[in-house]
Amino acid sequence: MGPVPLIRRIAGRAAGLLYPDRIYCVSCGHPIDPGMPYALCGTCRERFSFASDGHKPSGFHATWYTLWEKELVLRFKYANRAYYAGPMAEMMADMLLMYAREAVRVGSGDATFDGTEETAPLRRFFDGIVAVPLHEERFRKRGYNQAELLARELSKRVGVPYLPDALVRRKKTAPLKTLSETERREELRGVFGPGEADVGGMRLILVDDILTTGATAGACGDILRGMGARSVKTVAFAATAKDRKNAVTDGFDVPEES
Ligand SMILES: [Zn+2]
Repeated sequence: MGPVPLIRRIAGRAAGLLYPDRIYCVSCGHPIDPGMPYALCGTCRERFSFASDGHKPSGFHATWYTLWEKELVLRFKYANRAYYAGPMAEMMADMLLMYAREAVRVGSGDATFDGTEETAPLRRFFDGIVAVPLHEERFRKRGYNQAELLARELSKRVGVPYLPDALVRRKKTAPLKTLSETERREELRGVFGPGEADVGGMRLILVDDILTTGATAGACGDILRGMGARSVKTVAFAATAKDRKNAVTDGFDVPEES
């Protein structure tokens, strides 16, 4: 863990989301210019594995989960650094906007179009953002649901509304990474259920922090489609890099003109 000045640690503990300025790199804690993208210093930005060259077939993600991304996520989840949600969501937004602009450019048939005249190109593709819910007991312990914070911050940046209460979590799950495909499905049975939000006919973004096998996102997606959602795309901050060689570059479908 990088050096984080005492004042930041105290402020972080007092109010997890409070992050009045961006004068420290979220990865190494060194001072930065306030305007630095993603609140990363130049050195850390070089170290990060941005997934601009492709993503897992099971969903979109801003980065690959290597050493530096892992450090950031562990502090975000377990060391009360809720304010990391802003810079992390900024990375997710930029990645989605890249795909959206490409699809709009292809759809418009204009090779020079870069989407810059659109204030919110993602609205053409999505109607709402939902988060993978956290079990209540874990929520009480941590004080926040990391996926929900990312979803809310992403919503602010891409102009697609965040829908609270779309899903509920009925059970805690054991860590899925040690389980086989079949065991995972078994473990996830009945874990998620429909919440009170009306997602009928909507094209949704489902947000989680890490995309591992896609089993959790798949279980949530099944529920949302069962509630009438038209489509569900998973979007995460990072994806485990084990099968990075199988990454795909598929983007969004070209939106129908309406
Ligand atoms: Zn740094």
